Amino acid sequence: MKVSKDQHFLVDAEAVALIASAIPVSNRKVLEIGPGKGALTDALLRNGAIVRAIELDRTLLLNLERRFSDHIASGQLEIIHGDASKVLLPEFELVVANLPYSISSKITFRLLETCFESAVLMYQFEFGKRMIAPPGNGEYGRLSVMTQTYADVEMVLELPPEAFFPPPEVRSIVVKITPRGPPVLIQNRSVHDTLVRKLFSHRRKTIKNGLRSMQNIYGESVMTNLVEDLPAKILEIRPEMLSVPDFIDLANRLSTLIS
Ligand code: SAM
Repeated sequence: MKVSKDQHFLVDAEAVALIASAIPVSNRKVLEIGPGKGALTDALLRNGAIVRAIELDRTLLLNLERRFSDHIASGQLEIIHGDASKVLLPEFELVVANLPYSISSKITFRLLETCFESAVLMYQFEFGKRMIAPPGNGEYGRLSVMTQTYADVEMVLELPPEAFFPPPEVRSIVVKITPRGPPVLIQNRSVHDTLVRKLFSHRRKTIKNGLRSMQNIYGESVMTNLVEDLPAKILEIRPEMLSVPDFIDLANRLSTLIS
């Protein structure tokens, strides 16, 4: 099995304690992705969590099984060997994890398609900042819109490279994600997804020009009708100024025209 090199272990005890107690975990089923040497696993178990951990690296997995053999025997801990972006996920209510950064995007979108109450996840700083960025901010993009459409996202703490061993080259950020329904009903999620992706692939273009460049997908007459019906204040701005409900409204207008 291919093992990622994402192996920077959190050694800052205060940070471990803060992450493990950012949400109440006692008697809750908690999914941990990439437990590594078990620093966070240990804190979660001490806080009374029922932990389901997925680890890709076999050597780390064997060490974890030795270290936590009593918790495994009692059923408080189960460790699954595999790639968290692919394996069948166990039943869980919460997620607490220092994610392997190479699968941050894949695993976040995978989690958002499942049903859970809340997640406390560590990301590379720039990635986490993009998740929480509001409209008008230079960091606001597809990741911000897609995350904020389906969840509330807030920062928990920032961590410097020295909080890990070996220290990575990048800073990290811990983010709390609380899934909820979209602020406005989305008629067709695939249309919404395509629209957000396409508009941000031309982030310097105005909405009007961005929509025109989608004629090859939805046809010239559909896109012309859509543009004609939109207020000028939407047409002349760039996608980074468009709010999450505005993106849904645009996608719903498009969905109506193609249905
Ligand atoms: N949670 C530990 C900590 O805070 O010290 C380790 C975090 S380390 C950044 C990431 C961990 O994820 C490593 O243990 C690595 O082996 C594991 N990992 C990497 N890719 C993975 C994947 N696709 N699925 C599950 N675990 C993975």
